[in-house]
Amino acid sequence: MDCLKWLQGQQEAGLLRQLRPLQRQAASGAVRLADSGQAIIDFSSNDYLGLSCHPQVITAGQQALAQQGCGAGAARLMSGDFVVHHELEQALATYKEQEAALLFGSGYQCNSTVIPALMGRHDVIFADRLSHASIVDGCRVAGCAVHRFRHNDLGHLAQLLQQHRGPGAALIVVESLYSMDGDFAPLAELVALKEQYDCLLMVDEAHATGLFGPQGSGLVAAARCSGQVDIVMGTLGKALGGFGAFIAAEQVVIDYLINRARGFIYSTALPPALMAASLAAIKVCQEDEDLRRQLWDKVAFFIRELARYQVKVSSASQIIPLFIGASDVAVALADSLRKQGVLVTAVRPPTVPQGSARLRLSVTCQQGYEDLGRAAELIAQGLERFGR
Ligand SMILES: *Cc1c(COP(=O)(O)O)cnc(C)c1O
Repeated sequence: MDCLKWLQGQQEAGLLRQLRPLQRQAASGAVRLADSGQAIIDFSSNDYLGLSCHPQVITAGQQALAQQGCGAGAARLMSGDFVVHHELEQALATYKEQEAALLFGSGYQCNSTVIPALMGRHDVIFADRLSHASIVDGCRVAGCAVHRFRHNDLGHLAQLLQQHRGPGAALIVVESLYSMDGDFAPLAELVALKEQYDCLLMVDEAHATGLFGPQGSGLVAAARCSGQVDIVMGTLGKALGGFGAFIAAEQVVIDYLINRARGFIYSTALPPALMAASLAAIKVCQEDEDLRRQLWDKVAFFIRELARYQVKVSSASQIIPLFIGASDVAVALADSLRKQGVLVTAVRPPTVPQGSARLRLSVTCQQGYEDLGRAAELIAQGLERFGR
């Protein structure tokens, strides 16, 4: 592999990815560019409720850090299994209305190891075409037949099930809220198909956990499908403001994963302080309905502000895609907005389909109303400058 040549090719195609460090102040939640010190309004964060900087979360983490130390020191099945891991798993199982839960190092690790643990070479997987890379990679490692259905297209899924269900085990895998488009999976209909074709159903709730459903427990619970979804996946790193991920399922599935999921078995346990912080974050999520109300008020306000400048977007969630088309235009627009203090991510292929590059705007509780109004104006001006 000629690394330099490859990188130059990416640069020319407007596809080069680069790191840009930020500095954050937990007390205010304010974020700055590390190099210039410029304050920014962050539309790229998945810390939707601002829980990463919530005083109760920080205090819980600090206390556990002081009492239990930093790293867990080993994998769970060695000596890295602490009481706080079990407390958090119990809280997550209850929150997700499932029998049990199991923690994983990250959402990427979770999906990419759980899918191959469950599915073998003679089985078959049906996955939404917009599935997250971690799901795609999990399917690849499983080494079985994988059929991708058109995004949220139940007719297409039914057709694929009809053709390819086969005699082995079958898994349908979807996200409840799609991370790049901000739209929802039709969970009740997916449950009906899963039952008709005797499949397992796995739902990734990375972006829905903490925000939707009773006490923010997710869209599966909101759709009253908890009893029919076999495997619920969620992350601790998005609305819960921490890091890590989990599967919630029947106890027998969890026991199986403890024995079979290589990304669980052969990886160091999550740090205990982070587990304590996540326990506090779930408690805040369950108790503070007002935090979610603030978020939805801000989403509605931001969409109205954009509309005032003739920028039409539609979203029923905190994720607002602004379709641009060409990757280089999306990147140039994101660059120019960043120089003006608005941090948005240009999402390009292969993360999204060819020709559908977009700015992905996520609204969070950390943004003030003034920030949202100012950002809407700058985004509208930017779009006009780039002729969109
Ligand atoms: C972010 C995300 C993941 C990965 O979670 P991490 O904890 O960030 O590794 C998995 N699935 C979906 C849908 C995601 O958006």
